Amino acid sequence: MASKKPIPLVVGNWKMNPSTLAEAKRLVVQLRTLARKFTPDVSVVVVPPSIYLSDLTRLSPSGRLQFGVQNVWPGSTGAQTGEISVSMASSCGATYVIIGHSERRASGETDEQIAAKYQSVAASKLTPILCVGEATRDPSGDYYAVVETQLTRALAGSKKAQLKRTVIAYEPVWAIGTGQTSTPADVEEMRLFIDKCLTKLFDRATARAVRVLYGGSVNQKNATELFIHGGVDGFLVGGASLRSAEFARIVASVSST
Ligand code: PEP
Repeated sequence: MASKKPIPLVVGNWKMNPSTLAEAKRLVVQLRTLARKFTPDVSVVVVPPSIYLSDLTRLSPSGRLQFGVQNVWPGSTGAQTGEISVSMASSCGATYVIIGHSERRASGETDEQIAAKYQSVAASKLTPILCVGEATRDPSGDYYAVVETQLTRALAGSKKAQLKRTVIAYEPVWAIGTGQTSTPADVEEMRLFIDKCLTKLFDRATARAVRVLYGGSVNQKNATELFIHGGVDGFLVGGASLRSAEFARIVASVSST
C-alpha cells in the first residue's frame, strides 16, 4: 500500500533575532494570522530565542502556530550554566527542538553531544529536527559520506518509533545565509540518499516515515521550485522567517490550498 504523503512542514529558525521581546511579539501576531490560513494543510513552526518562548506561546493559544527551541542540553536539571533541558522547553510550550544546527557544530558541538541531545529529545514527546549537511560540495562527492556519517552518529541505536517522529533537515552549510541555494535536482538526490541511509540503519518503512526538510537560503522566489522538484517535505528557513510577508509566501509554496 502506498504511504500517505506527510503534511508539509515549514520551520522558521529565528536564531538570535529579533533584538527585543516587543519585536518578537509583533512578528508572532503577524504569523498567527498566517497559521490560521494554512493549517492544518501545512504545519508552521516558529523557533525563537528560548528566552521569548513563554511570552510568544501565550499569543497563540490555539496551537495552530507551533513553537520550538534552537538547542537543548540532555538531562533534566543540574549544574549546566546557561543551558535548558527538554522538560523546560516542553513546559514553556515548545513542541519541536532543533539539534545539530551547523552554527552550533561550528562553535564546537560534537557528534557525540548531538547524539546525546537527539536521544533525550527522541525519548520525550517533542519532535527532534536533526540538521545535517556538508560544509563544501566537492566534485568527488565526498559530501554524501559527510551526511551519512552525521546521520549514523546521531541516530544509531535509536528506536524505530522514535525515528519515525524525527525530522531531518538537510542544510548544506555553504548555502546557509549566503544566498547560494542547492539546485532542486541536488536536493532531490540528497533526499533519496538520506532515505537510503535511513533504510540501511533501520528499514524501508521506517525511513519512509521520516520527514526531510531542505534549508539554506530558501526565499519566496526559490521555494516553489525547491518544493516541487526537490522532493522534500518542507523547509527550515533562517533569514526569510523574520520577514512575515516573505515567510507567508514560502508557506504558501508548500500548501495545496
Ligand atoms: C538556517 O539557519 O537554518 C538557515 C537555513 O538559514 P537561511 O535560510 O538564512 O540560509
